[in-house]
Amino acid sequence: MKDTIAALWGLQKLDLEILEFDKRLSEIPSKKKELCEKIREIEEEGRKKKEELASIEDEKNKLEKEIEEEANKIKTVESRLGYIRNPKEYQEVRKKVELAKKANKLREDEVLKKMEQIEAINKDLETLMPQIEKEVKLIKDNLKIYEEEELKLKEAKEKLLSGRNVYISKIPEDIYKKYEMIRNKSRGIGVSQAKNESCEGCFMNLPPQLYNLILKGDNLYNCPYCQRFLVYIPEAEPAEEEKGN
Ligand SMILES: [Zn+2]
Repeated sequence: MKDTIAALWGLQKLDLEILEFDKRLSEIPSKKKELCEKIREIEEEGRKKKEELASIEDEKNKLEKEIEEEANKIKTVESRLGYIRNPKEYQEVRKKVELAKKANKLREDEVLKKMEQIEAINKDLETLMPQIEKEVKLIKDNLKIYEEEELKLKEAKEKLLSGRNVYISKIPEDIYKKYEMIRNKSRGIGVSQAKNESCEGCFMNLPPQLYNLILKGDNLYNCPYCQRFLVYIPEAEPAEEEKGN
């Protein structure tokens, strides 16, 4: 029975370690997601700026095309001016040409404005893009650290799980099943230490008779209050067992 008790206690300690690994592992996906989200946000900033640039360039190209088309029209009309004999008609056509020229001048001013905007955005991009690249790289490095940590934790957990099997093989099946049942109901703790006449799991005082039986270690007992298995571990022993971990 002493071996069973020792194995049960060993198993409990290991299970708490596994629980801690699980907790750390469970935190990683949300942290990774957070970082990926941040990368997306940062890259979005650059993407928007580039989109703005493309749209202004489009507008500028459109204007330039209009200017060219209008200029051609004006040229054609002007070339015919000399053939108009009717003074009134001549004046009207001239006026139209003047208006068309004015309109084209406005388009040219607009083109200049667009060019200034394009230049400003390009300048912004010149500083923004390397900044984005730098930030994204930094985040990706952090992401890699999490990925490596995740891998390490998984590997370490695997080792613990195989160690767990060794303990289980030393525990009678019915006791193991009961341990699992209690553990699932009691926040991962199926075995508590009996110490100073009380249960370390629920901190209730144990009946003296029960406490004495637990000290003897000839049999397994459960806490009458929290149902956990109770084990007595002499003070020196935990230090001895730590070495095995
Ligand atoms: Zn208890």
